[in-house]
Amino acid sequence: MRSVIIDGYVDEPACLGVPPYTSPYPRYIAGAMIDAGAKPRDVHYYTIDQLRAEPGIIGIMDRADLIVVVAGLTVPGRYLNAKPITIREVGDFIARYNEKILVGGPIRLSHESVLRSEYVAEKDLEARVFDRLTEKSETDRWRRTSEVKRWSVKGAQIIQRHPHFPHIMCEIETYRGCPRERHCSFCTEPLYPHSSREIHDVVDEVRALYESGARYFRIGRQPDLFSYKRIETNSGFKPDPTAIEKLYRGIRRAAPELKVLHMDNLNPATIIEYPDESREIAKTIIKYHTPGDVAAMGVESSDPRVIRENNLQVYPEDVIKAVELINEVGSIRGENGLPELLPGINLLYGLKGESKRTYQHNLELLQRIHEKGLLLRRINIRKAMRFKETPLGETKVHIEKKLFYHHRETIKRRIEVPMLKEIAPKGTIIKEILTEAHHGRFTLGRQIASYPLLIKIEGILKLGIFVDAAVTGHSHRSLTAIPVGRMRNIEVGSEPTHRLSGY
Ligand code: SF4
Repeated sequence: MRSVIIDGYVDEPACLGVPPYTSPYPRYIAGAMIDAGAKPRDVHYYTIDQLRAEPGIIGIMDRADLIVVVAGLTVPGRYLNAKPITIREVGDFIARYNEKILVGGPIRLSHESVLRSEYVAEKDLEARVFDRLTEKSETDRWRRTSEVKRWSVKGAQIIQRHPHFPHIMCEIETYRGCPRERHCSFCTEPLYPHSSREIHDVVDEVRALYESGARYFRIGRQPDLFSYKRIETNSGFKPDPTAIEKLYRGIRRAAPELKVLHMDNLNPATIIEYPDESREIAKTIIKYHTPGDVAAMGVESSDPRVIRENNLQVYPEDVIKAVELINEVGSIRGENGLPELLPGINLLYGLKGESKRTYQHNLELLQRIHEKGLLLRRINIRKAMRFKETPLGETKVHIEKKLFYHHRETIKRRIEVPMLKEIAPKGTIIKEILTEAHHGRFTLGRQIASYPLLIKIEGILKLGIFVDAAVTGHSHRSLTAIPVGRMRNIEVGSEPTHRLSGY
């Protein structure tokens, strides 16, 4: 029984799997295959970029008994050095392989008719793969947490087949689904049933990944890390700092020589409601994580009308308080050159009730944060994607292109670049930058991290190595820098081996 997993990449509100990230999907699928009796050597894994570059892989797929394609982007993104699978490519695979192919992941929410076929898993792809291989009836179902426990460990070794290995960031799941009773209009996370993993299961998975060679981890697969293992109270729920301590301590014990431990996704509403518990959690994170960490907060809008009409949770005053708390605990500089933990803010356009005033409200919020001397590590400005299963689904909201792009430029100029100058002032040594591409007289690189800054390093350096560099200048989300220390890696005057567009 030979199987091939094609990683077409995923990007969801609470899960990233575009290189250098590896999402839990292919790992769990590999685990489900092995759990069902497949020999690890018969489970093949390729990314879609690998497949495009190496036509020979098609031959391996032709000879396989089962082909599983993971894909789906439910948030818009732009990626460096990676191109997610297209609907057309998926359609071509379905046409070529029909009954021996299974497609799944967030792509199940696609509107494209080519995907409305019996080969697309409507629920969890890994569960469907397992049922197929164990010859049970192959109906769509959600996986059980007891299965995730086994599959996450058994499939961990698949990361060694990733073309970027060992320089990959393992996205780790703690829970999925949104625990709120009413949901934000645009979000696809509530389409998953809420299910939470046990702390020791997550730690066991990290151990298995670490033993397979993983050194970079992000606890990113959940909508709000601070709410993991929240405690039921008479009036609702409250965060459990002890559980977060146990999780982080366990991870550090399981992966003692890890190089990066970052987080993703924090709901600012949790901080507002429970500031003391949240402060304690933030301190715990800083105790165990690695610096340069980002607590990305889904603010989405500070226009009261948009907040109401889309059922968002936080108003501008709340956002400022949440930003203050993370800055208070996390703005101290860490040993890799960047502050320990800073907040990020996501803003979304194309929501119900939006008007020209929305842009003004959002800019005012950011200006107030800036004037208070607070730092944001990242401001993510996006257009909402629509899925018919969400309340925003069929709504038509016109985004005035000119206004949107002008607004984005204003935020970059007035807020982002000045903040970046404070986050990484000239002369700051940024450590462990992985060189990825050449552009003109620069080498482009990033730290393997959550929301890494793009570093444009003077000179043509060998690719695929780690260098340290001193900051010489700033632009939007990127820094220019000169290499320090390991100067032997510089190959001055040699021809660029690879070029990237867009820089
Ligand atoms: S709080 Fe809103 S954005 Fe966050 S997971 Fe729930 S529905 Fe999605």
